[in-house]
Amino acid sequence: MLKKMINSARIAFDIIPIDPLLIKSGQATVGGVDMSFVRTYRFGEKDEPFIPGSSLKGMIRSYSEKICRSLKDNPVPVCLPYIKPKEEGEGEAHQASCGLIFEKYKKDYDVKTIPSRDIYNLSCAACRLFGSHGFIGRFAASDAYLTEEFKKTGRPLLEIRDGVAIDRLTGGAAPGAKYDLEVLTRGEFGTSLEIRNFERWQLGLTGLVLRDMEEGLVRLGFGKSRGLGKFKINIKEFKITYYNRKISHLCGLPVFCSEEENNAYGFFAETGETEPLPEPEIKGLRYEYDIKSNWKTVLTPAVDDLVKYIEATDWPGPLENFLERRR
Ligand SMILES: [Zn+2]
Repeated sequence: MLKKMINSARIAFDIIPIDPLLIKSGQATVGGVDMSFVRTYRFGEKDEPFIPGSSLKGMIRSYSEKICRSLKDNPVPVCLPYIKPKEEGEGEAHQASCGLIFEKYKKDYDVKTIPSRDIYNLSCAACRLFGSHGFIGRFAASDAYLTEEFKKTGRPLLEIRDGVAIDRLTGGAAPGAKYDLEVLTRGEFGTSLEIRNFERWQLGLTGLVLRDMEEGLVRLGFGKSRGLGKFKINIKEFKITYYNRKISHLCGLPVFCSEEENNAYGFFAETGETEPLPEPEIKGLRYEYDIKSNWKTVLTPAVDDLVKYIEATDWPGPLENFLERRR
């Protein structure tokens, strides 16, 4: 990926569960519970429930995919991350995972690496932001830990609930298949997201997800169809940073890149202007803009960019042409 730092965005927020939450631990069970909540040991403290950054990133990615899919369905603008090429099921044509397609390509033609600019240029909207096999992406989510504020007022509460295994054929309860779930019913977690070297539409997409998370429309973890996983967020910080540049309006990579770079990576040219950014705080070479109070207004043109980008993209056309050229 671009070997220089241009811009970044950092959003810090608290996660406040509304329904019981279950983020499954990959570990062996705790005290004989079939599905237990993931825990961490930190700074020599007692074990505490936490939410891994990978779970948060997965949730935000899959919600982002839904948004992109609702903007266009022919061709579908995003891949299915776990579907291998040539193993697409009914209704999944042309949606195999970008990352798995590149893996197969490298194996089939004994190619060691594909330049990251090509990977970026040929990837779907979701992989461009969140990455795929062999390409790390621009988006990072930190682990979410219990907030100090919450810890002052109380302890997290974990309860054991009866789960009933659903028979896959009949949709009814499978005979004799009861199991226990450990769910969190009290606790608040703080975390942050970071997006480095963003195109403006990527910030627009992230903004749409944050907006729905604020309103409790996104679900997290296990058992979404069983009344688990509803939460809302409280945004604590929203900052945009530019390296060694003072700017007046929100802008993304294409503005700072040469024509050659823009073509090589296939960055999407920005369309409208945002309202002026506040005066930055200067920290060495970094110019930091605090948009916590008006981020929705600032991101409005970024959402317009997203809609136009999804409209304009003919993914997976270029990817399929790339594969075709080798045959
Ligand atoms: Zn993809």
